[in-house]
Formats: sequence, structure tokens, C-alpha cells
Amino acid sequence: MIVNVHAGHNPAGMTASGAVGLIDESTENRKVKEEVIRQLRILGYTVYDCTVDNGTSQSDVLKKITAKCNAHQADLDVSIHFNSAADDKDGDGKTTGTEVYVYSETSGAKTYADRVCREIAALGFKNRGVKYSTGLYVLRHTKAPAMLIECCFVDDRDDVQLYDYRKMAGAIVRGIAGKSAEVSEEEKTDEMPSAGGGEKGTLYRVQAGAYSVKENAEAMRKRLEEAGFDAIIIRE
Ligand SMILES: [Zn+2]
Repeated sequence: MIVNVHAGHNPAGMTASGAVGLIDESTENRKVKEEVIRQLRILGYTVYDCTVDNGTSQSDVLKKITAKCNAHQADLDVSIHFNSAADDKDGDGKTTGTEVYVYSETSGAKTYADRVCREIAALGFKNRGVKYSTGLYVLRHTKAPAMLIECCFVDDRDDVQLYDYRKMAGAIVRGIAGKSAEVSEEEKTDEMPSAGGGEKGTLYRVQAGAYSVKENAEAMRKRLEEAGFDAIIIRE
């Protein structure tokens, strides 16, 4: 599966950058998209980053993003945004939450959008659900089915306190892939020392024995050497 991912808006501090609240949309959506791309690639997806950092205006950013998206034969376009106008900078103990836009109810992205909403909600954010919009430029002009994710609100203290870019990205990836790229700590330990999964840097050790008494280890080495094999003892 081929996925286009982009962060909406120009970078922070530029013209046509995103919403600013307790956190900054253009900064956070770039962190989230980097992590989404990283995790999708771990899962074997082909991913293109269609983020634009040099738009001359809001419409220019959107035009350039769409051109990048449409340059690839993708199965899904993913636009990452953060919402604003919750106006809850002090925090009222409730998140304003997450919502995902698709073009219409029959969009090929609808299933993914539903799942992304559910996965982000599972992190503790209010699920505002999937919404339809024929007016959003990226949804209107991309060739592949597209979804625009409003992760959470930049101006709601409760959202911001709960928000963590890695977890947000993990939820989006689970929504797209139906599974997680994150490896639990336990699994990581099991994989040692061959972490890297068959790639460069992996060691395949052939073991002939393991002994708690040094003499027994030396006896095994002697037998191996006599049989014509080079052998070394590793103390662990
Ligand atoms: Zn936005």
C-alpha cells in the first residue's frame, strides 16, 4: 500500500503557518507526520512525504501539497492538522478532542477515518467523529482517497496535556494499518542482540554449548578444535 502523508500549512513563523495556541500546529503536525511516516515504513508501507515548507500563501501551500500528492500513484492521502478555537486555555478537565474529515460518506478514506478517530479517542481524547466536507482543498483535489486529521486542539489545556506526538502518531498508524509498529519493551529484549531484524548489523551466532563451569566450556572447545572447528569461549 502506498500512502502520501503531509503536515498541513507552512512551517511555524512563516506566512500561511498553522494555528497557534498553547502549542503550535505547524511544529506539532511536522513531529506527528515524521513519526507516522517512520512507523508506516516499519510496517512495510511505501510512504511519500508531501509536506510543503515554501508556500508563498495559504492557497499556494495547498496547491503545492496537492501537486506533490498527485505525483504519486497512492492508495491514501493523509493530511495532518491540529484544531483550534476550543478557547480553553485554563483547562476544564475535558478535552475538546479529535475529528477527521473526508470528502463524502462514500470516500475510500472513510473506513480509515473512522478507525483513526477511534484510535485517537482510545488515547483519551473526545471523539468528535468523522466529518464530511466538499470544500476542503486537499480533499477536493487529491486523486487518491484522502483524510484530513485534526489531531486535537492547540488551545485546550486538557488536549495539550494529554497530547504526545509519538502516541498520536501511533494511533494514526493503527488507524491506517490496523496494527501497530511499536515494539513492546519485552519484545525488544527478546530480540537482543540481533535487533535490526536480519538487516545490516545482525549477528547469527552458532552455539555448541553453554556451561556454568569453566572447565566444561574448555573441554567443549577442545573437542570442537579437535574436530577441526575454530571455537571461542564468550563469558556472559
Ligand atoms: Zn490546520
